[in-house]
Amino acid sequence: MAKYTGPVCKLCRREGSKLFLKGDRCYGKDCAFDKRPVVPGQHGAARKKATPYSVQLREKQKVKRTYGLLEKQFHIYYKIAENMRGVTGENMLILIERRLDNVIYRMGVGTSRSQSRQLVNHSHITVNGSTVNIPSYLVKAGDVIAVKDTKKEKPFFVELKEAKVSNLPKWLAFDPLTLSGQIISLPVRADIDQRISEHMIVELYSK
Ligand code: SF4
Repeated sequence: MAKYTGPVCKLCRREGSKLFLKGDRCYGKDCAFDKRPVVPGQHGAARKKATPYSVQLREKQKVKRTYGLLEKQFHIYYKIAENMRGVTGENMLILIERRLDNVIYRMGVGTSRSQSRQLVNHSHITVNGSTVNIPSYLVKAGDVIAVKDTKKEKPFFVELKEAKVSNLPKWLAFDPLTLSGQIISLPVRADIDQRISEHMIVELYSK
């Protein structure tokens, strides 16, 4: 599946907020957004009047970029959510949150979503005992997610065994010692970033 391969710090500056795309670096003093929190480009610092359309567009771009999705993939989630029962915007976010690469990130196995995607792509992850190398795989309640047995002795995972689990969402369980976890329940809207205004994305796509 195609993915964005350009400079990611520019995306944070474009969206006007930290999207945490570079793992540990995002929390250190080298964060490009902290150093220069303006839109990239010669006239980036110049103030421009925001229109309702531009606000909606920026909200969509922010979510797409946070989860590392391209327009086509993102729009597919919207279309699926539109045909589901309930609130379209919430359904869309919940679907995206259930992606296997996001779950690996939320469990703290990868330090960023892009690293987590790579771990899945490179067949390091199993779901219910079977290798799954599709980052967009949607997890279900009760699924057991683990690092593949043959990969557990790799230095990256040995280091992880000694790490403390922090900020684990309540819909997930993860044990660093066994490098395995479980989907306790499906996420609900309250488990997802409250700063996202998904209704704006729905308004944009509904035009
Ligand atoms: Fe964004 Fe992280 Fe780069 Fe900072 S270091 S600008 S949060 S991707």
